[in-house]
Amino acid sequence: MSDPISHQLQANLRRVDELIAAACEKSGRTASDVQLVAVTKYTSLEVVERLVELGHVHLGENRPQQLIERSELLSDSVQWHLIGQLQRNKVRAVLPHVTLIHSVDLLRLLLHIDQVAEELNLKPRVLLQVNVSGEASKSGMSPDELRASWDELVACQNVSIQGLMTMAPLTDDVEVVRRTFAGLRELRDELRERKNGESLNHLSMGMSSDYEIALQEGATLIRLGSTIFSGCE
Ligand SMILES: *Cc1c(COP(=O)(O)O)cnc(C)c1O
Repeated sequence: MSDPISHQLQANLRRVDELIAAACEKSGRTASDVQLVAVTKYTSLEVVERLVELGHVHLGENRPQQLIERSELLSDSVQWHLIGQLQRNKVRAVLPHVTLIHSVDLLRLLLHIDQVAEELNLKPRVLLQVNVSGEASKSGMSPDELRASWDELVACQNVSIQGLMTMAPLTDDVEVVRRTFAGLRELRDELRERKNGESLNHLSMGMSSDYEIALQEGATLIRLGSTIFSGCE
């Protein structure tokens, strides 16, 4: 592993690991409860291969087509996370390749996934994407929509709803970011209390610019692209 790309990746990952450890310690959590997902959407296949060789197999793509193509080219050990918008007509093709879909942003999408999963005899794991901050540009269900459709969502027999996902607003205001992540955690806690509640163990929140705050607020999955791959292209 002495090529320059692997070397750079190791240095970047070391910094991320240190920051995860520090943020977890600060908030009384264990680093092993956090899964790092390396977001590879802007990264060449060659660089992604180096990362996989280093043992990092949780990879995230935001486009279903690229996820499918890369899953056919890379090792079977890779665990693929779909983190971007999923059109209903892509569900059938992508479902066999994913370990977790983070971005289920509509009730009717979940119902469709459930139906396709039954036909394919699969039990996909999903997260529901929530627009906590209420920005018009963000996809995701509003907290109120989620509360209102909860009974219908959890009635799906083939999908397993494992938690929630959100994205914070792009802002330098740390408190706005923190409130968004805390809001997702509180919503998760509230839904857990409801009858028919699923365990909802996962909170997917935090990107390169804000994952430290997300970890302090309870993130179990962080999605990092630029931090991991900086200097590698
Ligand atoms: C691109 C992307 C990320 C990673 O962003 P970075 O800022 O490069 O860490 C995380 N989550 C989603 C949904 C993304 O589309």
